[in-house]
Amino acid sequence: MSAVQLRNPATEQVIGTVELASLAETDAAIERAHRAQPAWAALAPADRARLLRRFAEEVEADAEHLAHLEVTNSGHTIGNARWEAGNVANVLNYYSAAPERLFGRQIPVPGGVNLTFAEPLGVVGVIVPWNFPMPIAGWALAPALAGGNTVVLKPAELTPLTALRLAELARRAGIPDDVFQVLPGKGTVVGQRFVTHPAVRKVVFTGSTEVGKQIMAGCAAQVKRVTLELGGKNANLVFADADLARAAAAAPYGVFDNAGQDCCARSRILVQRSVFDEFMALLEPAVLGVVVGDPNDPATEMGPLISAAHHAKVSSYVDGLVPVAIQGKVPDGPGFWFPPTVLTPSSARDRTVTEEIFGPVVTVLPFEDEAEAIALANDTDYGLSGSIWTENLGRGLRVARGVQAGNLSVNSHSSVRYWTPFGGFKSSGLGRELGPDAVAAFTETKNVFISTEE
Ligand code: NAP
Ligand code: MG
Repeated sequence: MSAVQLRNPATEQVIGTVELASLAETDAAIERAHRAQPAWAALAPADRARLLRRFAEEVEADAEHLAHLEVTNSGHTIGNARWEAGNVANVLNYYSAAPERLFGRQIPVPGGVNLTFAEPLGVVGVIVPWNFPMPIAGWALAPALAGGNTVVLKPAELTPLTALRLAELARRAGIPDDVFQVLPGKGTVVGQRFVTHPAVRKVVFTGSTEVGKQIMAGCAAQVKRVTLELGGKNANLVFADADLARAAAAAPYGVFDNAGQDCCARSRILVQRSVFDEFMALLEPAVLGVVVGDPNDPATEMGPLISAAHHAKVSSYVDGLVPVAIQGKVPDGPGFWFPPTVLTPSSARDRTVTEEIFGPVVTVLPFEDEAEAIALANDTDYGLSGSIWTENLGRGLRVARGVQAGNLSVNSHSSVRYWTPFGGFKSSGLGRELGPDAVAAFTETKNVFISTEE
């Protein structure tokens, strides 16, 4: 049995250790989940719904505690962490409506009656990254449980505390022990076993594109269902006809939220050349105004990066070769701090423009016209999100239809709203989470024909 030491990213202090699940423990947990699944699926729909609502109530009652765990373990600002805990409760409430509405269809056929059923898959394995431990767990576990599946969930090694707490809260709500289990452990041990164990019938993975491809390849061996939420290098398109003051004031929050550790971060700002200088002049005070500091202070807008290793990776992109146009400040002393940084590379092929940095670093480049804006936005393997700033409604819609990404917003940086589908085009992923159809991703359609002939 090995253990991992957890560190507060804002102070570098050790905050505790967590035991890592072994392969044998993972197998045992999957077996228990497999055995528990038929009874969970056989519960009366209203009873499954009630348990999910009780789980939501427990999360709501514990939200302040969960939020503080995330501040300490992940360095999230307290404002964000409160939103994240609330998001888990909201998502549980939203999908608690599903068990009583898992409708099939009666389809007209000759010679009998035809019915469809939404059948659970079995055990669902969820692999969660360190950037948004609570919401990403909730987006998978809530619709999976609602669909009658049992769930085994592996948090990231660096950030297991809120997931472990969610498992306790589920138990307190009356959800049977083996229906939702959290297994802290290594990706290469626990996560990999979700891929190879035949009783796990679906893997939901959020993380890097590199590991996502391996997961997909591994799942192919068993034709295992898979949902992938991977990286992004998202464009924020600012047209000359935009409300420039609004666009510039909002741009830092579209990329520096969660210290840029967000697959939806708008990390490529593209500005129409005729207003480029004006936009940069407006952007400077907005970037310098981002409040970086103690995550426990409700006024703080940006905290530290997750780890020393990640800090080294992000730092490698600000290497003195690409001009730094604007850079904010960070607190003195310990902590994995990186300042909000705006780069103006000379080429759209620079690696700061093509690679996901996953930190508070944004590039700004000019474009001439709408066609070039769309071409530049699409000049990436990724396709997760993006924003369009314009006061012209027709242009807003035209460009939104032209950008190859799963989640676009016009005059806003919003990507994730639990009522609406979320996911990526191209190398940003496969499948969708959230929204009205998410439970369909956790069920199989079964067709039954009943002959009425004598
Ligand atoms: P990662 O390696 O893809 O890790 C994501 C999750 O997958 C973690 O729980 C990890 O476990 C697990 N994992 C790792 N290797 C695995 C394997 N072979 N089989 C099954 N599970 C495995 O991501 P990372 O290393 O933390 O971050 C690297 C980069 O990925 C970031 O810099 C960023 O560009 C991107 N990223 C994207 C997102 C997103 O939301 N789309 C989130 C996080 C990271 P361990 O904790 O044990 O490694
Ligand atoms: Mg990794």
